[in-house]
Amino acid sequence: MFRLKRYYGSFGGVYIPELFIPILEELESAFIRAKRDSEFLKRYRKLLKEYAGRPTPLTYAPRLSKIIGAKIYLKREDLAHTGAHKINNTIGQALLAEYMGKRRIIAETGAGQHGVATATAAAHIGLECEIFMGSEDVKRQRLNVLRMELLGAKVVPVNKGSGTLKDAINEALREWAENVTTTYYLLGSVVGPHPYPAIVKFFQSVIGSETKKQIRKIEGRDPDYVIACVGGGSNAMGIFSAFIRNRNTRLIGVEAAGRGLDSLHSATLNLGTPGYLHGTRSLLLQDKNGQVKKVHSIAPGLDYPGVGPELAHLVYSGRVKASSATDTEVIEAVKVLAESEGIIPALESAHAVAYLLKHRGEFRQEDIVVVNISGRGDKDMETIMEALHEKQS
Ligand SMILES: *Cc1c(COP(=O)(O)O)cnc(C)c1O
Repeated sequence: MFRLKRYYGSFGGVYIPELFIPILEELESAFIRAKRDSEFLKRYRKLLKEYAGRPTPLTYAPRLSKIIGAKIYLKREDLAHTGAHKINNTIGQALLAEYMGKRRIIAETGAGQHGVATATAAAHIGLECEIFMGSEDVKRQRLNVLRMELLGAKVVPVNKGSGTLKDAINEALREWAENVTTTYYLLGSVVGPHPYPAIVKFFQSVIGSETKKQIRKIEGRDPDYVIACVGGGSNAMGIFSAFIRNRNTRLIGVEAAGRGLDSLHSATLNLGTPGYLHGTRSLLLQDKNGQVKKVHSIAPGLDYPGVGPELAHLVYSGRVKASSATDTEVIEAVKVLAESEGIIPALESAHAVAYLLKHRGEFRQEDIVVVNISGRGDKDMETIMEALHEKQS
């Protein structure tokens, strides 16, 4: 029996072969115990502080503010250990694995960012770690494979199917079902079957609770806008969570419009329809026959055909506004933030910055706008270089 809320409106739930139900029930009951256990929470907060470098700063952006015509603040997840917000979740879930007496962690990864964050947390906490990765992705992402291996993880290339993320997910699930007593499956975003969306949101909500404290201290009130990019939705849910109840704060999720909304993109909240993917009911990009569409984004972390069920519900119910930015707008946003504030954002995070540029002049001067800079751009330098060259030639 599940005890926590499994649905967000009509989205969420557990749509996965029956053999996984007892496994997910066990996970849920451990999560319920852990989040009430002051010793567990103390250990989680201590690692975030002393290992991951939290709290991350909230930086006022004076020159960008002038360009946009509002007071812009940046939540600096780019300064967290490993350079993005993903570490909040992987530390939390690695501790949960340990709490459940499981000494081995498995995860799937596409571009490798979640694999690296998982391998990092596993190494620090002292757990065995195996990362499933499509064989095509292994070739394309050699630096991240090396990072994972340096961190002591085993990278398992998956040759089946197209050798990409969805094949890696299937293989990791099979491995989990066979070794469930010893193995914890560490999911990377607020997606998948219940209780994963709730677990990942819980560990990412530290972004929102810090932001709320910081902005109230500086400005004496909550922001008028909070803007975050959306892949699966974990950095967005993390920062939105603290402000959902305050109706005066507008929440905006920015997806990848890729080459254009009428071309290849991954704008699921904008253009998706209800369906089932990876164990949950949510919005997804599918054709008339329910086949998952090919998606694209210049940002590897946004290149996913689904989206978290709670975020889908928040968009359906009108609480969160879905927007999007094209690859071209995103490259421009990287340049503007780098030149105006001395911060090179991840291509994912630059989608949120692109929203500001598209709406410059539409804010009131006194509006307080918080943009979540989910990660740093070092990992994207080659892609950025190629995009800038293309533009010149
Ligand atoms: C993975 C990633 C994302 C997208 O994932 P969400 O679950 O939507 O947050 C965004 N930004 C960065 C820097 C990432 O690494």
